[in-house]
Amino acid sequence: MKNFHVAIIGGGVIGSAIAWELSKYKVNTVVFEMGSDVASGMTKANSGVIHSGINSATDSLKARFCVEGNKMLQSLSKQLGFPLKMVGKYVIAKNEEETKELERLIKIGEDNEVPGLEIKDGSEVKRKEPNVPCYKALWVPTAGIMQPYEFTIALAENAAINNVNFLLETKVKNIQKKGDNFLIKTNKGEFQSQIIVNAAGLNCGEIVSMLEEPDFNVYPCRGEYLVLDKNYSNLINSMIYPVPPKELGVLGVHITPTIEGNILLGPSAEFIDDAEEKRTTKEMMKTLFNEAKEIIPTLPEKAVINAYSGIRCKLASPKEGGWADYRIEESKQTPGLINLLGIESPGLTGAPAIAKEITRMISKSIELKTKTDFKTRKIIKKRFAEMTAKEQSDLIKKDERYGRIVCRCEHITEAEIIQALSNPIGAQTLSSVKYRCRAGMGRCQGGFCTQHIVRIMEEQFKIDVNKMKLKSPDSNLFDGRTR
Ligand SMILES: Cc1cc2nc3c(=O)[nH]c(=O)nc-3n(C[C@H](O)[C@H](O)[C@H](O)COP(=O)(O)OP(=O)(O)OC[C@H]3O[C@@H](n4cnc5c(N)ncnc54)[C@H](O)[C@@H]3O)c2cc1C
Repeated sequence: MKNFHVAIIGGGVIGSAIAWELSKYKVNTVVFEMGSDVASGMTKANSGVIHSGINSATDSLKARFCVEGNKMLQSLSKQLGFPLKMVGKYVIAKNEEETKELERLIKIGEDNEVPGLEIKDGSEVKRKEPNVPCYKALWVPTAGIMQPYEFTIALAENAAINNVNFLLETKVKNIQKKGDNFLIKTNKGEFQSQIIVNAAGLNCGEIVSMLEEPDFNVYPCRGEYLVLDKNYSNLINSMIYPVPPKELGVLGVHITPTIEGNILLGPSAEFIDDAEEKRTTKEMMKTLFNEAKEIIPTLPEKAVINAYSGIRCKLASPKEGGWADYRIEESKQTPGLINLLGIESPGLTGAPAIAKEITRMISKSIELKTKTDFKTRKIIKKRFAEMTAKEQSDLIKKDERYGRIVCRCEHITEAEIIQALSNPIGAQTLSSVKYRCRAGMGRCQGGFCTQHIVRIMEEQFKIDVNKMKLKSPDSNLFDGRTR
C-alpha cells in the first residue's frame, strides 16, 4: 500500500493549484481524480472570467481569495505559460434606478481595494463598445479572461514534473481514519495518507460523509451557455455584464469574449436535483439569447454555434437566497481532514490564493521544507499556427512531424499532437489532446482530424482502440474493429 503525506481528492482547479503549491516542498502528495484528466468537473465549464472582487462582501472568503487570486494570476500566467487577457468589464445600467446598483458595486469594490473603478456615461461606453447601448456603466479594468482548463493543466503538469502523483480515473470510494492516518479506498486500490484535502467540488459532501455526518447540503445550480462563432468576435471588446439580479447569488447573463476569439452568452441559473444533469435545453437557449439581446440589440441568431452547461456547487438553497460563503476548514471532528466546501464562483480566480491558504493549514501538521530542485514548466511560446513562415520552415527542418498538419481548422501539426499525448500526468483521451493543443476545437469540431489522432494514439502510443476514450472513463470511442 502506498503512503502519502497529503492526499488531494479532486483534480479541478482547486486541487491542482494546491498540488502545485505543495510541489514546491518536500512533501509526498497524491491527487485522486475520478475523471480521465484534470479539469473534468466545474473547472471545465464556466465563464473563464478573472473576477476583480466587486461582487462579494468585504469580510467574506469569496472576496478575500478573489482579490488575492486576481493579483497573483498575471505573474502565474508568465511563470506557467497559460494565456490571459485583462480585457476589463462594463456593468451596464439601463436607467437611473440601475445606476444606484453600480454605486453599490463601487462601494463593495472600494472596500475590497479593487483599483480603477469608474462610472462612465452611455456615450463614452458607446465609443468603446459601439454595439452596447446603455445609460451608464461601471468600468472595471482589473477583470480579465483565461481558459480555465489551460490554467489547470499548467498547474497539474508542473506539479507532476515536481513529483506530485496524479492518479486519473481513480475514484475515492471510502475513507477510514486508522490511528494518525487515513485509509483511502479507491477503484484502483488502497492508499494511506496523513492529511486529506477534500477538493471534490460538487462531491464535497459525499467525501465528508465517508468520515462524519455533514452539517451542510450542496445545492447544484446549472448554468447554461451559448457559444458564438469567431466571426462575430468584434461584437464586443471587453466583458459586458448587466447589474446583478437580486436573487440566487449569481451575476446574471453576461457577454464574455474568450481567449480563442469566441463569445459566450450566459450563464443561466437553475437549481436542479441531480448534479450530473449537464444537458442544455431549447427553452433556456432561447431565454439566454433574448437576455443577451437586451444587452446587444443587434445580436444575430445565426452567430450561435454551440451550447454547454456547468453546475455550480452552492451551499445555500434558492429559499435561502442562493448565496453562501466558502467553507475552508479543518474538520473539528476528524483532524487531518481539510474541507473546501461550496467553492463556486469566483473559485477559478481565487484558486492560487486558496492554494496558499491550504498549504499554510497543512504546514501546521507537517513540516514543509522548500525544495531546492523545483523544476519550472517548459513553456511553449508560440503554437505552430502562430509562427512566421520562416519559423515554421526552420522547425520542419528540425522535425518533419511539424510538416504534417493533422487538424486543418486550427492548423495543428502531428508534432503538437504527440507533445499533447506525452503530457506528464498521463491523460490520453481525445479531449486531453484537444485541451492541450486545440486539435478538434475548430469549425469542423474534429470531423476531419479525429481519425488521424486515433491513428497516432494507436501506432505511436500503443493505445488499444477498444480502450480509447473521448473524455471520461466511460466514453469509449469504439466498440471494436470491423476488419
Ligand atoms: C456556470 C459557472 C460559471 C462560473 N464562472 C466562473 C468565473 O467566470 N470565474 C471564476 O472565478 N469562477 C467561476 N466559476 C467557479 C469555478 O468554476 C469553480 O469555483 C471552480 O472550478 C471549482 O473548482 P474545484 O476544483 O473546486 O471543483 P471541480 O472543478 O468540480 O473539481 C472537483 C474534481 O473532483 C473530482 N472528484 C469528485 N469526487 C471524486 C472522488 N470521489 N474521487 C476522485 N475524484 C473526485 C471531480 O471529477 C472533479 O474533477 C463558475 C462556475 C460555474 C459552474
